[in-house]
Amino acid sequence: MATKSNPENNPLKEWLSTLPNKRIRTLRLVSQLTFFFLFNGVIFGLSRIQFPIPVVLPPGAPYATAWGGFSALQYILAVGQFPFLVLGVFFLTGAIFGKLTCGWACPVGFWQDLLSWLPISKIKVSRPTNRDLQDFSGFFLWGSIIVAGFFGIQRFNGQLTGGDFWTFMPFDAIIDPAGTMFVTYFYALLWGVFDTDSLLDTVGNLFLWKTFILAIFTYISIKVPRAYCRWFCPTGALLGYVSSNSILTIKRDPTKCVDGCDACEKACPTGVPITDESTDGIANNLCILCGNCVDACPDAMSFGFRF
Ligand code: SF4
Ligand code: SF4
Ligand code: SF4
Repeated sequence: MATKSNPENNPLKEWLSTLPNKRIRTLRLVSQLTFFFLFNGVIFGLSRIQFPIPVVLPPGAPYATAWGGFSALQYILAVGQFPFLVLGVFFLTGAIFGKLTCGWACPVGFWQDLLSWLPISKIKVSRPTNRDLQDFSGFFLWGSIIVAGFFGIQRFNGQLTGGDFWTFMPFDAIIDPAGTMFVTYFYALLWGVFDTDSLLDTVGNLFLWKTFILAIFTYISIKVPRAYCRWFCPTGALLGYVSSNSILTIKRDPTKCVDGCDACEKACPTGVPITDESTDGIANNLCILCGNCVDACPDAMSFGFRF
């Protein structure tokens, strides 16, 4: 634990410092809403560009203006090419901005923030459990890469042409909750999958499976803020390889810390052990640079740069 002290010995200031201050949260909400409409901007007449961005955005979404980076990565591997552009985008943005896109732009992160506001009791997760459960996201990341790469080699060698959707984007086809919300439900409505008879065929079975998976992630994300981001998201896992050393970071001034206080940690939606982190900048791949800790303690916490 970092040493906490209160050089000013001002109880009122101590108390004030623990009160929530929502300035950054309000800015972030505006940003999340703006990006939600931008990313689904085809409905307003914006053009669709085939450029990968480091957020979750299923390419099959009818109004999506860009490609979610991890969907693009799977597809490019599955057609037998190397995803130079996607990896470049991820590592460049991650190295400079960390997981800023997760905190401020990703529609699935936004969806979880909305879920976390529901007045339902939350589960407190211990630090070791929070860390260990991250292995799921690595499993989804590398499992999808291996499956897509396997089919990519077959296509490259001419042993396979065409193939089912899951052979191109295994994670999107089988697990991805964003795909369920933005793609599966849209086409299920369009194609009448909700008819009782249709639910028994292949498309209907996939619909039921994806609804089941979405329900699980939704429930967990209601009980634990940003649970999908923390433990399951392969996009976040990929960004996380570089985000912990990003130039943009969050800093803590230990001289302004108060003994026994943990208001910043309580405000953190991903369970970063802030007081154990370096005061030069948080080096934890769970940090999404949301600024909730800065809102909670503007005296000691701040956005900053690390070189
Ligand atoms: S971790 Fe994944 S779901 Fe969460 S905000 Fe980042 S990209 Fe979106
Ligand atoms: S940085 Fe965190 S632990 Fe230190 S005073 Fe602020 S809220 Fe409390
Ligand atoms: S450490 Fe601060 S900026 Fe990072 S996720 Fe937690 S509250 Fe957000």
